[in-house]
Amino acid sequence: MTDDLRTKLLAALDTAQNEGPSAGIRALLGILDELPSDPDVLHQLDVCLEVAFSSSTAAAQFDRRLLQEPRVAARLKVCASCNARWAPHPTKQAFGKVAVANPIGGKCPQCQRIFCKKCGSQVKGTTGELHCPACTKGLLKRDHVALDCVNY
Ligand SMILES: [Zn+2]
Ligand SMILES: [Zn+2]
Repeated sequence: MTDDLRTKLLAALDTAQNEGPSAGIRALLGILDELPSDPDVLHQLDVCLEVAFSSSTAAAQFDRRLLQEPRVAARLKVCASCNARWAPHPTKQAFGKVAVANPIGGKCPQCQRIFCKKCGSQVKGTTGELHCPACTKGLLKRDHVALDCVNY
């Protein structure tokens, strides 16, 4: 990482800390205008998104206009059934094989689609764990822990 990028990243994280995750995300998008695929910037974007969706209080303050931003939308998980959106947990995502205790949703190992907790827990003929509404396979509960801010 260059000193210039480090300075910009620290400024963006300061903004996130002082003005909230939405402002931090806008600052990070400004850096991505110049460095569209920098892994450190994208990681911080995921961290800010996870914070933005980490509680219903935080989610209520999230700037919904950011959901229209393609670089933000691309980082979110979307339920294939009800379109609920949420941010994956950036750290747990890095440990790809770790199952999370209270997932917001999961991915079907058969059809590869993602479903939220609400849709995955209402599958006929299944109990307990989350299942795919289409295949009834148990969902892989990996990188999905943050609360959705939209309609979950
Ligand atoms: Zn759903
Ligand atoms: Zn499936």
